[in-house]
Amino acid sequence: MTAVPLPTPSFPGPDAGSEPGPFHLLAKPAGAICNLDCTYCFFLSKELLYEGSRFRMADELLDRYIRQLIEAHGPAPEVTVAWQGGEPTLMGLDFFRRSLAYERRYARPGQRIVNTIQTNGTLLDAQWARFFRDNDFLVGLSVDGPRAMHDAHRVDKGGRPTFDRVMRGLRLLREHGVQWNALTTVHDANAAHGREVYAFLRDECGARHLQFIPIVERTTQQHLAAADAGWGTRAKDRPLYRQEGDRVTARSVTGEQYGRFLIDVFEDWVRRDVGTVYVQMFDVALANWYGVPPSLCVHSETCGRALALEHNGDVYSCDHFVEPAHLLGNIGQWHLLELVDSPRQREFGRAKRDALPRFCRECDVRFACHGGCPKDRFDRTPDGEPGLNHLCAGFKAFFHHVDRPMATMAALLRRGLPPALIMRRYADDDAVRPHNAPCPCGGGRKWARCHGRPAPRATDTGARAATRTG
Ligand code: SF4
Ligand code: SF4
Repeated sequence: MTAVPLPTPSFPGPDAGSEPGPFHLLAKPAGAICNLDCTYCFFLSKELLYEGSRFRMADELLDRYIRQLIEAHGPAPEVTVAWQGGEPTLMGLDFFRRSLAYERRYARPGQRIVNTIQTNGTLLDAQWARFFRDNDFLVGLSVDGPRAMHDAHRVDKGGRPTFDRVMRGLRLLREHGVQWNALTTVHDANAAHGREVYAFLRDECGARHLQFIPIVERTTQQHLAAADAGWGTRAKDRPLYRQEGDRVTARSVTGEQYGRFLIDVFEDWVRRDVGTVYVQMFDVALANWYGVPPSLCVHSETCGRALALEHNGDVYSCDHFVEPAHLLGNIGQWHLLELVDSPRQREFGRAKRDALPRFCRECDVRFACHGGCPKDRFDRTPDGEPGLNHLCAGFKAFFHHVDRPMATMAALLRRGLPPALIMRRYADDDAVRPHNAPCPCGGGRKWARCHGRPAPRATDTGARAATRTG
């Protein structure tokens, strides 16, 4: 799943067209270079693609990129410039100041340029926070939950925990009134704690926009041991991560775990946070129930409109396919638009739909799932056909679970009413639910011992004090 901070979704009318919308490009000005060494971050290994490089986008290339990006959007009223990594703040503030200068130079009259940046937050200071606020950057901050869950995999080059440094960065963002999203990966250390993670992000961190990104690190039997050791510089003989093999690392989630995580969060969200907390997966599901294209490629019919730009100008089909077989070309030789709209890229995007196994084509929640991301389609269907998504069991469980509430919220929207009205129905049902009744989350516990009581709290977060000013 492409992790990128997203503006608050809005729902166009049901007749909105399904033509591919404007494309999205994740630019990596420092390539795969990062000051951290998160064990599940397969992207760290992409450094191996550019051995000998300085991993810094040159000024001439930055100028060319911003110009081509804006040209490629034609008269569109809005263009998004999305920075990612690696860790993009390693480029320093002056790089982003120059980028803004180029944006002002090339924007059409009246055109709005939106800047987003995904960061681990550990290098932020007051200057960065002021810069983000003054220039309306939307910041995606990587935080995996309370201390122990976050530090399970998000460590620095010395293997040291990063939780306190991230909370410090978050405090600065909140003190300065910067718009931010929580980007939270779901992995072996937090998958069983959906409610706790959600309550932490909402209450301790003050997050109002959240994305939950499943960790699926795919590998071959040959590379499994090396992959389990991680992809960063601390790992000896790390392989280049490629989308191949049908094994996964021990950090990866199973479909069942991911589905349970989403359901656990949903059951809390739908009772108190509809309309005030935006969870990307729930918005995406609602869009599909409502009948409009969702904002996330993973659960869209086709994809191919979310590409990646490396520090040297190389453009790849997708952030998850930064590997030689999916290199489209370099913007020094081709205009960005030629690469984005190339037959190869269109074929890449169509393959998401056209390569679905029959099991998916006949699935009752296909309209909401669309088979998930092709990168995760390395399992076999029950009748042995290849190409089933590794997370299928979780998708099925989640989409079946939310069928009724999503249909209800979509119906409210069609009547011009806020989906948040659904919370009243839940409150009415809960008021008469016996304590010993099974919890409607389906997790097997009694209501009073499950979603009928407040979510468990992490005991050692260190976050509330760090974020109380936000
Ligand atoms: S392969 Fe397609 S669905 Fe998957 S992240 Fe890339 S663009 Fe999105
Ligand atoms: S839920 Fe499973 S079978 Fe259904 S479309 Fe998604 S991946 Fe395919």
